[in-house]
Amino acid sequence: MQDVHLPDLREQEPLQPLNTLALPATARYFVRVERCEQLPAVQRWAVARDLPLLVLGGGSNVVLAGDWPGVVLQVGFRGRRVTADPDAADSVLLEVAAGENWHELVQWTLRQGLYGLENLTLIPGTVGAAPIQNIGAYGVELSDRLVSVRFWSWADGRERIMTVAECELGYRDSIFKHALRDAGVITAITLRLGRTSCPVVTYPVLRDALTAEQARDARAVEHAIQVIRQSKLPDPAHLPNAGSFFKNAVIPAAQFHELSRHWPGIPGYVGTDAAGNPTVKVPAAWLVEKAGWKGRRVGGIAVHDRQALVLVHHGGGSGRALLDMAAAIQSDVEQQFGIVLELEPRVYGSFAS
Ligand code: FAD
Ligand code: NAP
Repeated sequence: MQDVHLPDLREQEPLQPLNTLALPATARYFVRVERCEQLPAVQRWAVARDLPLLVLGGGSNVVLAGDWPGVVLQVGFRGRRVTADPDAADSVLLEVAAGENWHELVQWTLRQGLYGLENLTLIPGTVGAAPIQNIGAYGVELSDRLVSVRFWSWADGRERIMTVAECELGYRDSIFKHALRDAGVITAITLRLGRTSCPVVTYPVLRDALTAEQARDARAVEHAIQVIRQSKLPDPAHLPNAGSFFKNAVIPAAQFHELSRHWPGIPGYVGTDAAGNPTVKVPAAWLVEKAGWKGRRVGGIAVHDRQALVLVHHGGGSGRALLDMAAAIQSDVEQQFGIVLELEPRVYGSFAS
């Protein structure tokens, strides 16, 4: 195979500034890719040296448990394109390149008079990472707006368009965490957005913050969510974190009723699983707090004192120390409630399981 020259490749690149937990780690090789056409060259270069590839966006949902022994590829594709929606006169299709910043996209859509992303304001990271865990907040998930994803597959070196159904989006979940885990690069996504403001205000905390008039105004809803989020969540720029560290637990309704007998105040939100069976979503923050972990600190790692779902890094910590604390929390919650909490961020590096 002919070797490829990668002009922008860097060696021994520090990753601490590139992950919002500010965990110390080094990439053996690092390359920022600005155009999709560069992907085959990067892949050929890594394959020729038998090096694993890690695709990185904003680093806001990863735990770097150690150094990356291969190539870290940061996605830098830019661009937005609005076209008419062939299926509905009052909506448009918006194609956005994967390297665009998600929060800036939300702001831009509102300035264009395009509605539907307002509840997903202030979520850090890139557009290309949004389908990976089907980002969601305040009653809206990406799956409510997503039409399709452009996916460059390492397996066949080709880009294909995947429909939203093919992405198998679920609660903080998608095919990109299972069958297509680390299997390629999302290069762009297409969203369907409305031309009329019609916000979702089902979350009680959101509804309570709005007048009836504001509740019909997407910009007012977006502003209210920014205010709520800023009052509750630590800003990674000041206190490094990766947002929610554990997924909320979705358990069978019968198990929830049993738990309620022992824990009368246990919060739960009723739903159904894929087979239509009744389930209840139990906030992981409540479980972590009841297990006695809220505000606890071990070395440089702590559970945030206002938001028990967020693990924070005060400095001097490591991915290993963070994962040790997460494992201790999981073990205590399981012992107390019989619920196994799942990590939300993806773990990479030498100690990854
Ligand atoms: P990264 O952390 O860089 O990557 C995450 C995963 O996606 C990795 O597996 C990576 O390999 C993969 N990946 C990234 N880009 C691509 C690509 N183009 N192609 C293929 N794979 C890719 N999440 C929510 O759902 N709701 C919230 O409200 C929310 N709030 C948050 C608040 C804070 C303060 C923080 C720090 C995080 C929050 N998150 C939230 C989590 C995080 O912001 C999202 O998961 C976001 O989509 C991650 O984007 P990223 O670009 O930083 O991804
Ligand atoms: P919260 O309002 O304190 O509520 C705690 C949990 O209860 C939330 O995680 C939410 O689940 C669930 N919940 C609350 N009201 C609900 C309702 N009416 N119906 C169904 N579920 C309900 O939550 P928070 O921690 O401050 O976060 C607010 C929103 O921002 C949530 O949607 C959360 O997911 C999102 N957020 C996510 C991250 C992340 O990193 N993933 C970080 C910060 C905030 P859901 O999570 O399913 O919505």
